[in-house]
Amino acid sequence: MATKTVKCPNCSAENTGLENYCRNCGSLLTNAYENQQMQRSGSGSGQVPGADKKVVAGICGILLGGLGIHKFILGYTNEGVIMLVVQIVGWFLCGIPSLVISVIGLIEGIMYLTKSDEEFVQTYVVGRKPWF
Ligand SMILES: [Zn+2]
Repeated sequence: MATKTVKCPNCSAENTGLENYCRNCGSLLTNAYENQQMQRSGSGSGQVPGADKKVVAGICGILLGGLGIHKFILGYTNEGVIMLVVQIVGWFLCGIPSLVISVIGLIEGIMYLTKSDEEFVQTYVVGRKPWF
């Protein structure tokens, strides 16, 4: 990992980014992005909050997509119920709707896994995008 340095806005001294205050002059380092990154990695997981659902939801979408399990994991209860109902009703309709809903789940699972953690959280945790 590359070491990031934070430049002091007051005296231009290079700081390690581990401190909130300049070790040279003691003024507050105002690089909010760097501080955020430090807080995230300081929280233990080193991940974007919500990103832990990405892999679980993605795999469930691929394997059990037709049951809407990945929707429930993401907290999309309505969409999960819709997928489950279509799946069950589909069994009485020669399985075609069930197949379609399984393919949708598969595609969504792949989409989750191909997104970066940031994109995933932005789209599905913050944005609450219901489908795809
Ligand atoms: Zn300084």
